This record gives sequence, structure tokens and C-alpha cells, in this order.
Amino acid sequence: MTLFEKIAAGQIPAQIVDRTPDWIAFHDIQPQAPVHVLIVPIRPIARVGAALPEDAGVLGQLLLAVGQVARKLGVDQSGFRVVINHGQDGGETVPHLHLHLLAGRPLSWPPG
Ligand code: 5GP
Repeated sequence: MTLFEKIAAGQIPAQIVDRTPDWIAFHDIQPQAPVHVLIVPIRPIARVGAALPEDAGVLGQLLLAVGQVARKLGVDQSGFRVVINHGQDGGETVPHLHLHLLAGRPLSWPPG
């Protein structure tokens, strides 16, 4: 099981924000902004570039989850950033697709 499968199964504790049968959202253990939530498909996809055509439905659900979670946390008006890291140069450390939702402060551009 991946780390995030263990969180989804309740085997590793996490501060859960929201969940559906398709995805779970929980606070990042090492937040990089006042709001830093990970949105993760329950059924693991290794990384975004490894997604297959049959994953299209859940990929859409993950993007829809962004707005739902942002509204729930009250950051939809102030704004936020969504990041997906793919592979070594992208900064991926957990091989289970996840969207980072970052908010609560102005975020600089370009990213580091
Ligand atoms: P990546 O670097 O793969 O894009 O992001 C992985 C994220 O998972 C990091 O931001 C890291 O802080 C977070 N993370 C790693 N281990 C845990 C954990 O056990 N619990 C939670 N909530 N987040 C974790």
C-alpha cells in the first residue's frame, strides 16, 4: 500500500478535510502555506503522467474536488494554487498522484 492508501484506510492518522468514494483531502504534514491540503484519488495512480484514458473520470473528480475543498476552507475568494509534482525534477516524493492545494498567502511566480 502507498502512504496515501494507508491514510485513506485510516492506518496512518491525518487531518481529513473531506472525502468521497473516489478521493480524500487532508492537510499536508509539512505545510508550505497557511492552507496546504492534498487531494488524492483513493485508487492509486502513480503520477499524473502515468494516468491512462480509463482514469479520465477520476481525474475530472480531482479537479472538481479542488473547488469543493477551497470553498469548504474559505479560500475560494482569496485565491489558491494547485500543484502536481511529477518525477524527480518535479519534486515528487510520494508515488501516489496528489494535488497540492495551497492558499492563505500570496504565492510568488515563477515557482522555485
Ligand atoms: P510530493 O512531494 O510528492 O509532491 O508531495 C508529497 C507531500 O506529502 C509533501 O508535501 C509531504 O509533506 C506530504 N506528506 C508526506 N508524508 C505525509 C504524511 O504522513 N501525512 C501527511 N498528511 N502528509 C504527508
